[in-house]
Amino acid sequence: MAVIPSALEITRDIVRMDTRNPPGREIECATYLGNLLSGAGIEVNYYEFAKDRTSLVARLKGEGDKPAICFGGHIDVVPLGTKDWTVDPFGAEIKDGKLYGRGSTDMKAGIAAFVHTALKLANEGRKGKADMVMAICAGEETGCEGSFHLAEVDALGEAGCVVICEPTSNYPMIGHKGALWLRVETKGKTSHGSMPEQGDNAIYKAARSVSKLEDFDFNIAPHELLGKSTLNVGMFNGGLNLNSVPDHSEFTIDIRTLPDQNREKLLDGIKGYLGAENKVESLVNVGGVHTPHEDPWIQDVYQVMEALLDEPIEPRGAPYFTDAAAIKPACGHPPTIIIGPGEMKMAHQTDEYCPVDHIDQAVEIYETLTRRWCGL
Ligand SMILES: [Zn+2]
Repeated sequence: MAVIPSALEITRDIVRMDTRNPPGREIECATYLGNLLSGAGIEVNYYEFAKDRTSLVARLKGEGDKPAICFGGHIDVVPLGTKDWTVDPFGAEIKDGKLYGRGSTDMKAGIAAFVHTALKLANEGRKGKADMVMAICAGEETGCEGSFHLAEVDALGEAGCVVICEPTSNYPMIGHKGALWLRVETKGKTSHGSMPEQGDNAIYKAARSVSKLEDFDFNIAPHELLGKSTLNVGMFNGGLNLNSVPDHSEFTIDIRTLPDQNREKLLDGIKGYLGAENKVESLVNVGGVHTPHEDPWIQDVYQVMEALLDEPIEPRGAPYFTDAAAIKPACGHPPTIIIGPGEMKMAHQTDEYCPVDHIDQAVEIYETLTRRWCGL
């Protein structure tokens, strides 16, 4: 029997690979994981949405026509931030039961846990009733480009259930909101600051739009699990110097949408609400997801997790968006759970870490779910 690297070893190896996005450059990490998987006889295909922006889809084949169980996640990580780290962000050091490094929590530990699970199952050599598919995506942090690309080229095929391994401290989440991120630009005419009547002030226009947005009504009922749709203006820029009338101003809008909300209609609504003086450009547009907790597979997951965590599981949603926005529809909208070893509060933080024991627990969870689904 081949020696299989542990999930912890795989996590450490890939945390040491710099996949900061921007610029991304996931190719090295994708190839490392692809080689591990194909070395165990698992089918691997690579997909690039841009140069060196590599995603991969791996498939541990079963027999029969039951649709696959699909695991998904991303291998890009966010930049380091402005604060100094007290550890090497690409050192994968272990201290006091914590594995430190950028991407340890979000979400290379989750990726490593399902890759290790697949290697272990492949090594057993038995065929399950369904395939185990792994969608390992580039470019999630900047709007799920990698997973949307996989959907576009039809790389995934049908699945019966989806497990997204984003950080939840191994608590099962059954949904998350979507996001619509916009840049709005206003234009005017410059003139000397002592003669403002000869100009047209772009900042005044933008300021009027921003205050109007404070009262924007989504006109949609709150979601049973995820609550209300929200809006935030996070950036505002304009003007070049104190004594000129500004001819340009821009600001951004971060809208968190509900799973059933029509984002195209919403975008048109915002454009109409702000008026023609505002040029609205969409930067990120990803949907929310939700599977009702009554779904039989979700109930099955809850049962597994109740035994493992030794507590009753309540329906919860995640605050962030994930690759599920692309993967769930691409797989034919099967029930989808978000569960992973990372600590939600450590995502995108300075001195990011993942508890080592969570990684082992995630392996146990992914293995149990795959064995139950595939009858292994
Ligand atoms: Zn993430």
